[in-house]
Amino acid sequence: MTEQESCVVVFSGGMDSTSMLYMLQRVHPEVRFDLLSFNYGQRHAKELDYASRTAAKLGLQHDILDIGVTGLSRLLSASGSSLVSSSAVPEGHYAEDNMKATVVPNRNMIMLAMALGVAVARNATCVATAVHAGDHFIYPDCRPDFIMAMSAAANLGNEGFGRLSPTQPILVPFINRSKAYIAQQAIQNGMPFEDTWSCYQGGDIHCGKCGTCVERLEAIHEALANLGGAGPNDEPFPDSNVDKTLYADEEFWKEAVANAK
Ligand SMILES: [Zn+2]
Repeated sequence: MTEQESCVVVFSGGMDSTSMLYMLQRVHPEVRFDLLSFNYGQRHAKELDYASRTAAKLGLQHDILDIGVTGLSRLLSASGSSLVSSSAVPEGHYAEDNMKATVVPNRNMIMLAMALGVAVARNATCVATAVHAGDHFIYPDCRPDFIMAMSAAANLGNEGFGRLSPTQPILVPFINRSKAYIAQQAIQNGMPFEDTWSCYQGGDIHCGKCGTCVERLEAIHEALANLGGAGPNDEPFPDSNVDKTLYADEEFWKEAVANAK
């Protein structure tokens, strides 16, 4: 019997990686998807809970790699102290601190390198990551040229080991896609939005006002508009209540988007 093909998914529990997972499962039902999350420290715990929830729901293996406050995150943090002692950070500064945490140098390359190591160890053929077009401006290690170079490096660096695909060891299905496209895929593939977490704030429900909440709501709205029309049985499609996520403020994003234009 031949070994089942498998793929290691870099999985945050956010909308992007969860949408990608639902899409990949539909397109490649024969492949086993193993989920890999990275723990940067306390403030990301919420997202990881959502990642674990989806993993359990879909019956997939889920591992969380700790690169948190005493390790890599601290050493790479441009701002130093904000990541070191998360318990001492006032709640009101969560958004700002989290933004700083997102500019950790070389982060995507580091995560991909770790995921590729796991993939080779498990004889997986690829690693999948949900980087998208909106990431390009901010993060050079999310751009197509970089992914191509990293793919070549992965194959050279593991020659004779594992089963990495010689042509596509790193899957990036959203690399030239917008956030709205990702939301559209999520709707079409039946992803429950409420199983994903995007908010920078540490509240019990999405705040609806931080940068990622606004981006999420705008993308879902755009996706609904793009998909608007009748379903196979003339029912309205998609259901405009497809997003069951609870937001503390459901209207703020419209104003924020209008102001940004
Ligand atoms: Zn928020």
